[in-house]
Amino acid sequence: MISVAQAIKTVQNNIEPTDSFELIEVSKATGYALFKDVVSKINMPPFRQSAMDGYALCLNDELVYQLIGEVKAGDNAHPILKKGDAVRIFTGAPVPDTANAIIMQERVNVNNSTITIEETPSVNTNIRPLGEQVVKGQIALAKGTTLTPAAIGYLTTLGIEKIEVHKKPSIAILVTGNELVEAGSDLKYGQIYESNAAMLTSALTTLGFQQITNYKVADNYQDTLKVLENIISKHDVILVSGGISVGDYDFVGKALKELEVKELFYKVKQKPGKPLFFGKKEDKVIFALPGNPGAALTCFYIYVQLALQKLSGNLNFSTTRIKAKSESNFIKKGDRAQFLKAIYKMPNVEILEGQNSSMLHTFASGNALVYLSEEKGSININDEVEVILLPII
Ligand code: AMP
Ligand code: MG
Repeated sequence: MISVAQAIKTVQNNIEPTDSFELIEVSKATGYALFKDVVSKINMPPFRQSAMDGYALCLNDELVYQLIGEVKAGDNAHPILKKGDAVRIFTGAPVPDTANAIIMQERVNVNNSTITIEETPSVNTNIRPLGEQVVKGQIALAKGTTLTPAAIGYLTTLGIEKIEVHKKPSIAILVTGNELVEAGSDLKYGQIYESNAAMLTSALTTLGFQQITNYKVADNYQDTLKVLENIISKHDVILVSGGISVGDYDFVGKALKELEVKELFYKVKQKPGKPLFFGKKEDKVIFALPGNPGAALTCFYIYVQLALQKLSGNLNFSTTRIKAKSESNFIKKGDRAQFLKAIYKMPNVEILEGQNSSMLHTFASGNALVYLSEEKGSININDEVEVILLPII
């Protein structure tokens, strides 16, 4: 059994960004990572721009200027200013070549065809220089950058419509268990509604993964072997739910061995989620998650998310970990590291009731996990604790 830290490192060390790319529209690229540097085809700004509503001046030593015209945003106007001339100008408007400072309108007294200022501004005040953000031919955004809303906006300001991004993986979710029935059907004695597929799909789509296919199999070795062989051949990432523990009807481990999936770890010294398997077959990534829903989701956020982000080329994004003051006591039993379902409400965190790995009833209103390392003991109210913020919407 390995530690949480070793397990995280093992995931990091065994996953490389995919070397396949696709050309997609910038407007649809949120969450993708750039496969190549993006070079700007224009200067940004493309012309000297006014940063203020005010007056463009051709500076001289006097405080009174002749008002000779007006330029507003979008105008294709080129008034020529001599020393001592001014034009009315607005934010975003092109600054005439012969103007060398903008003074904001609040600092100006207007009298018919002249304006008076209190103090001469320095050269280039309130002028956004040509190419201030990026110069034509320069790298606008580097390879590997994750496309956030700001990045989408930035690329679009450069007039870029399509970009090459790392392909996102095709993901299979395989749920195992004889007891599982679909929501909508009647529950017979001994049955429960299958929930991990919907839960994991929701977690995946929240992170921007769309290519998801659901499979299910009964607790039967031959069927498990057959379906796993099929989905490993078809998908890049396989998330198995359940059947990886040590019960007589847990066949996933045996089937993965038979299929020569290389085990990178099995069992992590943590609660919940001890029976977690991570392995690879060539480039295919396989996680077998514990069937208990609370444990499956915790393992997803700590390990699967990391693997998927790295696989998709998102190298500079990681789980958000912060420190917060605990509003709750928690008595730790045993020596495993723990991930505790919690609600973070700045600046405090509340540890929820119902920490069993089978439970979702309080996790359902949570937004965070409190991490208690192996070495850490119980938590007292007002202790500073480590909080993992979950990407929940
Ligand atoms: P397992 O890991 O297969 O031993 O399952 C552990 C527990 O999780 C059992 O109580 C299962 O009934 C439950 N479980 C397994 N898979 C699911 C699922 N897909 N949805 C809801 N509960 C599940
Ligand atoms: Mg099972």
